Amino acid sequence: MKLLEWQGRLLLQEFGIPVPRGEVVEDASGARRVAQELAKSVVLKAQVPMGGRGKAGGIRVARTPEEAEGIAAKLIGGEIKGAVVKKLLVVEAAEISGEHYLGITIDRTRRAPVLIYSPEGGVEIEEMARAKPEAVTREPVPPLEGPSAFRLRRLLRIAPQWLRKELVEMARKLYELFREYEATLVEINPLAETPNGLLALDAKVIIDDDHSPDARFADLREEAVDPAERDARDAGFSYVRLDGDIAVIGNGAGLVMATLDLVAQAGGRPACFLDIGGGARAERVRKAVELVLRDERVRAVFVNVFGGITRCDEVARGLLDGANGAKVPIVVRLTGTNEVEGRRTLMKAGLEPVETLEEGASLVVFLVKEGG
Ligand code: GDP
Ligand code: MN
Repeated sequence: MKLLEWQGRLLLQEFGIPVPRGEVVEDASGARRVAQELAKSVVLKAQVPMGGRGKAGGIRVARTPEEAEGIAAKLIGGEIKGAVVKKLLVVEAAEISGEHYLGITIDRTRRAPVLIYSPEGGVEIEEMARAKPEAVTREPVPPLEGPSAFRLRRLLRIAPQWLRKELVEMARKLYELFREYEATLVEINPLAETPNGLLALDAKVIIDDDHSPDARFADLREEAVDPAERDARDAGFSYVRLDGDIAVIGNGAGLVMATLDLVAQAGGRPACFLDIGGGARAERVRKAVELVLRDERVRAVFVNVFGGITRCDEVARGLLDGANGAKVPIVVRLTGTNEVEGRRTLMKAGLEPVETLEEGASLVVFLVKEGG
């Protein structure tokens, strides 16, 4: 479960990580009141479970309580990145002289936590790692050893000298949080340099639903889940949100996993994993395609359906319905009963299916890269 910023912020506070003063509110008059109490410029932040809110208009500065009220009235009830805004976090505006990144996640190959740091935060870390790999360091944390002085020194070798001590402390606290809540991801981005020291201006925390020792967040699950995940669940799909830009749809978990692996091997980054399940009907295929296309991050879709009991021609029709009006390329591999008819239906609509999984994976990665 991905927590909203205001919830993640509570956890940071619990572990002694400094955050700007402020409060979460549910209406415009609340925003006005908090701005009045803080008695300075405030930042209004839409509480939706996705990043990049700044660019999407979900992070706004107000200089007066009146202005805060006006902006809040527009934001609450509206949509940011496809999610309805129900709450705003209102915090005092910080004076920022630098933005860093500090995070911990699970390294999938090592199956151990890994600390990640960058002195150039503010942007997505994957983006930074690609554009400027020397500005990102990673340090695995063997669970028995913990974040030892040696490991932290190595992680922070690219940090400005004068901030290292503060960063070491911050990293230790973040690691405690990570362990205590059995998180799979904790991220402070930006961790801002201000006249009063480092301040966590954003909080992203993902905790394992089953393992959280804390029932406090149980009621908030509904709110914290992102719209695609909720729609997928409602439709009875098994869906996992990932960090990339290629949506992967298939029937059967094994098939979808294999497809994910091949996309990654071809140099692509999956945005999600959607398993439409057995006995895929045209209608389910249509729903699945529509669902991933609503996700703004998705820049290509790879559908890999094995038509067993279901006839491929029917699957093809569902697919075309769902893809109607799509603005991103769709790559399809379709095999099984009535394959020939299915493929013919697709070709007539200008969607030529690929022959093999490998071919599909390289094609979809190529199309994303070509799209820029
Ligand atoms: P995200 O875009 O969803 O990750 O939202 P963030 O909370 O990370 O905010 C995006 C950007 O807004 C940050 O990188 C900051 O540059 C800016 N920002 C957020 N809070 C403040 C603040 O208190 N003062 C100033 N000056 N900028 C802020
Ligand atoms: Mn952020």
